[in-house]
Amino acid sequence: MNTFDADVIIVGAGAAGLTAGQYAARANLNTVIIEQMAPGGQALLIDKLENYPGNVSRKTGMEFADDMREQAEAFGARIIPDAVQSIKKEDHTFFVTLGDDTIMKSPAVIIATGAKHKGLNIPGEKELYGRGVSYCAVCDGPFFKNKKILVVGGGDSACDEGIFLSNLTEKVILIHRKDRFRAQRGLAERVLKHQHIDVRFNSRLLEIKGGQKVSSVIIEHISDGKIYEEEVDAVFIFIGSVPQTDLVPDVDKDEGGCIITDESRRTSIPGLFAAGDVRASPFRQVVTAAADGAVAAHAASQYIDELKGEAYR
Ligand code: NAP
Repeated sequence: MNTFDADVIIVGAGAAGLTAGQYAARANLNTVIIEQMAPGGQALLIDKLENYPGNVSRKTGMEFADDMREQAEAFGARIIPDAVQSIKKEDHTFFVTLGDDTIMKSPAVIIATGAKHKGLNIPGEKELYGRGVSYCAVCDGPFFKNKKILVVGGGDSACDEGIFLSNLTEKVILIHRKDRFRAQRGLAERVLKHQHIDVRFNSRLLEIKGGQKVSSVIIEHISDGKIYEEEVDAVFIFIGSVPQTDLVPDVDKDEGGCIITDESRRTSIPGLFAAGDVRASPFRQVVTAAADGAVAAHAASQYIDELKGEAYR
């Protein structure tokens, strides 16, 4: 079994993890970022990052993610492609076990594991996943050019992705269970005015039908209980996400399962910091994830100085 020491171990290489890595390495900390997928996290799925400062919207999410990775590595952060199996703490040391049983030790850990999409758990959803049911417009939208697409959800994701899909086809139906959008007002208004998007409020998806591929859906109009079948070629579901906190079961969380931190991104476990979508926060953006990463790295650096008795007073 291999054992390695680091100053700070960051779990997850999305916008939060990569920014934390950049800031920690720039502060001369021996920094390791562990990521089981490609670096970039959910930013990889963004078509145009139009609300990140500095005109990065000229880049695809993939290009932006690659820039973040390159910048973190340029400052000296080491990215290890592996899945963390467990995080344990003894005294002031965290033991982070990787898939190959390597154990990494550090006094500070930043958890930036993000969140995974939520499913509707309705008949046909699982069965037709990958055959018309999708949770990623950038990945799967191009398969449904000029086809009829149903989008489910009422938040920023549903509205953003609905607009992306409406560039591929003139036939997008967007259903939401309430009578108005949860999404940011400007985005919601763009959807409502969009000629290619047929918005249906008070509507619930009951079933997705099809054989080899999606052929239709059963929708309930909630206010009058009317149930009808609509022919569609694809169903894109954007109904929020579930924070990925399995590695830290004992840390304090809110009722939605997100990790509670103070303004320095410190969690209830000393030495453990949280950043990005895994953290309880009223507003989730790439820019807030990046900011979280920077703040968490700074706080981790201060925490390590305090442990060493080197903190600036
Ligand atoms: P969200 O804000 O949690 O919205 C989820 C939507 O799905 C809500 O409208 C919710 O309805 C609906 N929903 C939840 N469970 C449902 C169910 N079982 N059946 C039907 N509908 C259901 O999630 P999100 O849109 O994925 O956004 C997540 C975070 O990322 C947010 O903080 C958002 O601001 C951010 N984000 C930002 C951008 C951007 O700035 N461009 C883009 C994407 C995401 P209710 O409203 O009734 O609860």
